[in-house]
Amino acid sequence: MCLISDRHAGLIKAVREGPDFVSPHGVHRYCLRHVCSNFNNTIKNVVLKDLCWQAGSEYQLRKFNRIMDEIKKQDVKAFAYLDAINKEKWTASHDGGWRCGILTTNMSECINGVLKGARRLPVSALVEITLERTVHYFHVRAMKGQKMLQNNQLWTDFACKMFISWQQKAVEHTVTKYSHAQQSASVVTRRQGRHGMNTHVVKIVNRECSCGKWNQFGIPCSDAQKVCGAYNISAASMVKDYYDVMAYNNTYSKHFEPVQSEDYWMIQISSWSTTPTIRTVTCPGRNQTTRIHNEMDWRQTRARQEAQQQQGDSSIQENVP
Ligand SMILES: [Zn+2]
Repeated sequence: MCLISDRHAGLIKAVREGPDFVSPHGVHRYCLRHVCSNFNNTIKNVVLKDLCWQAGSEYQLRKFNRIMDEIKKQDVKAFAYLDAINKEKWTASHDGGWRCGILTTNMSECINGVLKGARRLPVSALVEITLERTVHYFHVRAMKGQKMLQNNQLWTDFACKMFISWQQKAVEHTVTKYSHAQQSASVVTRRQGRHGMNTHVVKIVNRECSCGKWNQFGIPCSDAQKVCGAYNISAASMVKDYYDVMAYNNTYSKHFEPVQSEDYWMIQISSWSTTPTIRTVTCPGRNQTTRIHNEMDWRQTRARQEAQQQQGDSSIQENVP
């Protein structure tokens, strides 16, 4: 199990005190969006915040190190701040494949979206709407699962898209086989402008590629697919089974029992009194959001433009003899 959360002290303490919450049973990872936001609250530099995101989301160790060097060059204090956080917890390059490509807590935010508007309702209505929306959420996905089965799809849409896109990319790679026992090889990617011509090492037996993507997503990357081709191995057989359409169907095919009329309930609630908390008088137009906005909600476009402007000015000054 991989828990991704912000760095709330209570959560960290709970995980630390949970005896079973250690590798290989479970790990705690930090939401990269929250790390970047806290970093920016301290350092107050949106350019460094963007570099922090790049560092955390990079799968390759060498690229991560390069970005950290850039942060250090720009601000030693900013580098020290990030360097003090356990890299396993916030970077994709040091994660070891636990995150499955998920960097933020967006998935739980998505459930908040499903239940949007419900939290201001009285308790009984809140329970009712939560059940209704959950049933609908499962129904839509159960239908989607059936459609994928009818189309003879092996994996979910996400995995299919990733696998095919990497399969197409693999055509342009060059492979050199090294060891039949380890089914290892080096792969050189094609030059594309200033990018490409990277060398990655693939070991099929260990299910790993030095680009880090296979380990992170559980789907053979373009390099791994190229090497599979060279050794006549089926790359498709190495996609993790949690992407299997059957697994998807098993998740969403659970049945919910329809709720009977209150008259059939075993517990009589007629004597309960409730105090409605919902607004009885509604204003025209959209409801005002009650969510407390924070640093993550600000677009910071202006700050980025100003930083780019400053960079432009300093480069002009540097060019002046
Ligand atoms: Zn790779």
